[in-house]
Amino acid sequence: MNAPLDTHDHDAPIFAPEAFRLGADEAALIDKARHFGARVLAPRAAKHDREATFPIENFHDMHPEGLLGICVPKQHGGLGASFRTYCLAAAELGRYCGATALSWNMHVCSTLWTGALADDLEMSTEDRAAHNARRPLHYRRIIEDGAIYSQPFSEGGAAAAGAAAFGTEARPVDGGFLVSGKKIFASLSGAADYYGILCTERAEGAHASRRNTLYIAVPASAPGVSVTGDWDPLGMRGTVSRTLLMKDVFVPESELLMPHGVYFRAATSWPHMFLTLSPTYMGLAQAAYDFTVAYLRGEVPGTSVKRRMYPTKQIAVAEMRVMLEQTKALWFQAVSEARPNPTKEQVLRAYAAQHTVMENANALAAKAIRTCGGQSMLKSLPLERIYRDSRCGSLMLPWTAEICIDRLGRETLYEPGERDD
Ligand SMILES: Cc1cc2nc3c(=O)[nH]c(=O)nc-3n(C[C@H](O)[C@H](O)[C@H](O)COP(=O)(O)OP(=O)(O)OC[C@H]3O[C@@H](n4cnc5c(N)ncnc54)[C@H](O)[C@@H]3O)c2cc1C
Repeated sequence: MNAPLDTHDHDAPIFAPEAFRLGADEAALIDKARHFGARVLAPRAAKHDREATFPIENFHDMHPEGLLGICVPKQHGGLGASFRTYCLAAAELGRYCGATALSWNMHVCSTLWTGALADDLEMSTEDRAAHNARRPLHYRRIIEDGAIYSQPFSEGGAAAAGAAAFGTEARPVDGGFLVSGKKIFASLSGAADYYGILCTERAEGAHASRRNTLYIAVPASAPGVSVTGDWDPLGMRGTVSRTLLMKDVFVPESELLMPHGVYFRAATSWPHMFLTLSPTYMGLAQAAYDFTVAYLRGEVPGTSVKRRMYPTKQIAVAEMRVMLEQTKALWFQAVSEARPNPTKEQVLRAYAAQHTVMENANALAAKAIRTCGGQSMLKSLPLERIYRDSRCGSLMLPWTAEICIDRLGRETLYEPGERDD
């Protein structure tokens, strides 16, 4: 990779390996992500934000670095990163380009669900054998060809929040399924090679049930697949999350990402998977803080006036630091304890961590603008993009900030099955 050295290349890691007791391999991988973010993503971020175009060249550059296969198990040629290592690496990318980190998350999750997570999941012998026979196909595409997967789950109804069966349906036919439906906010639309969708497997006349959720890769080139609508949002503009339509798309059985019915059990027993949208925003929180410190010290390129001598600025930075440290500590704990069948306390902490990161990233960015002043919100500087991108975090299903609060309150006060009548 010959990208020029960026000024960010001297940034310290968000989570210092010694302080957070990271293993050497883990620290090296996170370091690799940080350097990649600083050298490759940062210089391209403004253009993709301005034009609302997908940063496909970032993904092409990830391929030789092994980053497309960060969570592909080592025996399948990937880097075999754990859930936590991935989260820490993704936070480093989020510092430099929120849209790339968020899109990368959609790609990586398709290898986490099928990889480390599936390995930890209880499955019947038949399901395990079928899964192990099918998944090398997906991994080979990613490792050898640099294929990009996405994760369009949302439909605009209650399904993405986990409250109803998906309206997108897969009708079993000879050798596979006919898939029909619509996905909104399909990040990487038009750029992904495979759309890893959730849909309801439903034979003619059968009842739609969440238990029959099917997780399957729809090839972008399959007849009946189309991308529609425009994409001109406030933030995360480079994700290009347009609407994906599927009409009687034949998808062979070999494209299953998980065996029949296993996704529902995976989602239930691995709730921390829904924290995977947060690393991007952890990175944005750090970026807002870093920018403020550099700006007040007169070190942001093109703005040499120092403003650090004013007590109000010092207080603002101190308050930002407190908020950042609180955010980091809680989030690090939550991503460190991710595992199948977590305790109630761990799940509640995961909601609290998600809520904290998503809300604090935007609060820190808002405070950064107020503290640095008018010039800091000019489009020639990254802060206003960080502010807009960070606004999106608390909207992301299934763990929006509101849903986290709903669940925290309810699940603290009620044990499963408890009622008041
Ligand atoms: C930049 C960006 C990229 C995205 N990329 C993807 C992607 O790649 N794949 C994907 O699947 N989705 C993606 N999403 C979609 C996202 O996860 C949500 O589906 C989307 O933001 C929901 O918008 P909505 O207005 O339809 O929400 P609604 O479902 O209308 O919800 C509105 C609000 O109501 C509340 N709410 C909703 N349901 C419940 C409930 N059951 N209980 C209590 N409160 C509830 C929530 O707080 C929510 O914020 C992306 C979103 C953004 C902003």
